[in-house]
Amino acid sequence: MAAFDGLILKQIPFKESSKILHVYTADGMKSVLVHGAKKFGSPYLSSSENLNVVRFQAVGKELLTLTDADLVEGYPKLKADLERFTYAQHLAELLHNFAEAEYDHAKFFAFTLKILAKLETEADYQVYAFIFELKYLFLLGVAPAFTACAACGRKDDLSFRVRSGGLSCPDHAEGPGVTDEGFRWMRRLYLIDLKDPLVERPDAATTAELRRAIDDWYAFHLNFRSKSRSVLSGLLGY
Ligand SMILES: [Zn+2]
Repeated sequence: MAAFDGLILKQIPFKESSKILHVYTADGMKSVLVHGAKKFGSPYLSSSENLNVVRFQAVGKELLTLTDADLVEGYPKLKADLERFTYAQHLAELLHNFAEAEYDHAKFFAFTLKILAKLETEADYQVYAFIFELKYLFLLGVAPAFTACAACGRKDDLSFRVRSGGLSCPDHAEGPGVTDEGFRWMRRLYLIDLKDPLVERPDAATTAELRRAIDDWYAFHLNFRSKSRSVLSGLLGY
């Protein structure tokens, strides 16, 4: 018997009325089989939605089989708002895609729940998704260079570019650059401690620029673009 808290990222139908949940936990990804989850009247029907945090009790080794589930957090406001929900799904796809990477899952699981709480409560929440995505780059080993040229370490005459890995000197600059304002916000959000209140926000143009730069970073350095990101384009207009 195992008991653990997990965030449901994805579900796959299994046989007639069952499903397998892909769950992010403090130990990394786990798969949990839920018998009869799709049956009306199943006690697990409502708790096994995507983006729920659930306290699971399960048996088994490779594939865990659910024996009991209690909803810990359902993020009702986030789920009632299509744009927020799609943003959260985008982060869930990101986590799911890179869950096999080796990093401190206990720490990042706790951090993920803090970010989802911000998506649930903050009026201007998009910046918290940026914080998640930027900090995740560090865990995935492709953090931007924010202090010196990514290629040679030179510290003057620098511009920030996605393709050259962040700050780059004229000899190593590749691809289009990010504005100074975009760079300052990226560095700030990358380094921020969630305990410190974030009162200011980037303006609309910088927000759109950050969105594109982060997308480009994931596409160019990790060959990743989420399905939800395409849906978000329609909702955000960029
Ligand atoms: Zn250089």
